[in-house]
Amino acid sequence: MTGRIHLSSPDVGELEERYVLAALRSGWVAPLGPDVDAFEAECAERVGVAGAVALSSGTAALHLGLLVLGTRPGDVVITSTMTFVATANAIVYAGAVPFFVDVDPATGNLDPALLDDALRSLRREGRRAAAVIPVDLFGKCADYPAVEAIAAEHGVPVLSDAAESLGATRGGRPAGSFGRASVFSFNGNKIMTTSGGGMLLSDEIELTTRARHLSTQAREPALHYEHTEIGFNYRMSNLLAALGRAQLSRLDEMVARRRAVRARYRAVFADAPGVRIFGDADDAGDNAWLTAIIVDPDASGWTPVELSRRLAEADIESRPLWKPMHLQPLYAHARSITTGASESLFARGLALPSGSALVPEQLDRIEAEIRAFAGVRV
Ligand SMILES: *Cc1c(COP(=O)(O)O)cnc(C)c1O
Repeated sequence: MTGRIHLSSPDVGELEERYVLAALRSGWVAPLGPDVDAFEAECAERVGVAGAVALSSGTAALHLGLLVLGTRPGDVVITSTMTFVATANAIVYAGAVPFFVDVDPATGNLDPALLDDALRSLRREGRRAAAVIPVDLFGKCADYPAVEAIAAEHGVPVLSDAAESLGATRGGRPAGSFGRASVFSFNGNKIMTTSGGGMLLSDEIELTTRARHLSTQAREPALHYEHTEIGFNYRMSNLLAALGRAQLSRLDEMVARRRAVRARYRAVFADAPGVRIFGDADDAGDNAWLTAIIVDPDASGWTPVELSRRLAEADIESRPLWKPMHLQPLYAHARSITTGASESLFARGLALPSGSALVPEQLDRIEAEIRAFAGVRV
């Protein structure tokens, strides 16, 4: 089988086609409609929270999440330095400034002890963070028991960036159920997709009601469109919600397939010295959105960049982990507490094709390429 193999392709088929076509034929093509309401209800039920708002992106959900939790211009918001830029950008959209904190080297998730340091240093200055945003990196829930306890001690609300972790669990609790509010992304490369979209969830219905209001230009209930505050055009359309409902009904199946892909990489690299599967210890609740390897070149005899180049020649996509925000030109000036953990993961990590739509022939191709390159015997 030829053709490019991507990191995480959309996994859509006949079911999705049926749902979208039904929505189209129902006449609910103008933005809102019954599929939006149903998609919200189904997501909230799946996660076990009271409310959910379907939005145009995960980024929009982060932005509104911060606003409804009370973030004001000039506030400080703490987040993990190892994340996609959207997390940091949403902080800036809210007029706040990001404070980046380094990660646990085993999981790449926000290090609770460093979060405590950050909150204490703010307190010494007589300041308080407006919110903390832990990020569930590559589909593994952050250490919420520790993060929530520390944040509560400082009276700071937690907004969970679960953009990558829908379908994952921690201690039996679903991703998206942590914090005062949480965010999913349905971007095309995520575990499930609406082609583009996101969701804000919370057990506090006042928060999701307020976010829904802000997401539709903060229109007051008057025939002539009355406005008293700034709103946004962030709502998800009905056609995309229909796609999301089909995807959500297949979520467990898609998580199982991603986990099977991870098991395959685990077997491929089992005998490769100096290579570990990222976050593999205690990964029972991981949705395996992306599987990455962490390479110690002294032991392996090759670098992740070399493997990536070899895979690229074979038309197979691979990519380093997120470049830490404190290393990004955009955010290099921002305040941070770093230990070198995220920098090391960035230098030594490589994400491999992990999508649930990968077929056996593609997995065989990837495996053959890796074994030939790394000299791992079959
Ligand atoms: C994808 C992603 C987002 C943003 O989601 P969009 O739907 O693309 O706006 C935010 N945070 C993290 C960690 C992500 O991976």
